[in-house]
Amino acid sequence: MKLILIGMPGSGKSTQGNLLSKELNIPYLSTGDIFRTLSKEPTPTGRYIKEIIDKGSLIPDDKTIQIVTEYLSRSDYKDGYILDGFPRTSIQAMNFKDNIDYVLYLSIDDVESLNRLLKRQDKLRQDDTVNTIKKRIEIFHKQTQPVLDFYKPKGLLQIVDGSKSIEGIHQVIIDILKNIHEI
Ligand code: AMP
Repeated sequence: MKLILIGMPGSGKSTQGNLLSKELNIPYLSTGDIFRTLSKEPTPTGRYIKEIIDKGSLIPDDKTIQIVTEYLSRSDYKDGYILDGFPRTSIQAMNFKDNIDYVLYLSIDDVESLNRLLKRQDKLRQDDTVNTIKKRIEIFHKQTQPVLDFYKPKGLLQIVDGSKSIEGIHQVIIDILKNIHEI
């Protein structure tokens, strides 16, 4: 099964993605994790990526598509994956030709997004400052919301209320997948 997780910063994509990965035994892949790893490399590319992440901006589409395509061509992902953080722009969605089964949108509002990230002091990221979070939320509305409009008419979009508890959201997702995919 090929799943895409979309949601605002703090919507729980990585938490839910990891839970689903364990339960369904499908590998989890996060473009944010890939880029954070690359940003630590002491190379011009590493420094360039770090600068973009720290600003709360997006890595250019061509670079992102190239990296994701390279990862997904690995044998680990040939039977399926749970993809967190991609596609994040219309251009990425239009250029992503894999046969996706479902797109799960974890829906929360701006206030919840900001509050949740400011609270996650335990695993605070460098891009979790108020200004950067606001920028990431703005980018979500401008660039990522159209990705939902891209998948909706294809019948792939499932909207999940992301304001519930971790266990509550997980159960809703499992129920959705049971209904439509007989997992
Ligand atoms: P995330 O962990 O999904 O919040 O991603 C962290 C950061 O990585 C984002 O703020 C972007 O700078 C970058 N990033 C992750 N996924 C993408 C993507 N699909 N396109 C462009 N930039 C991305």
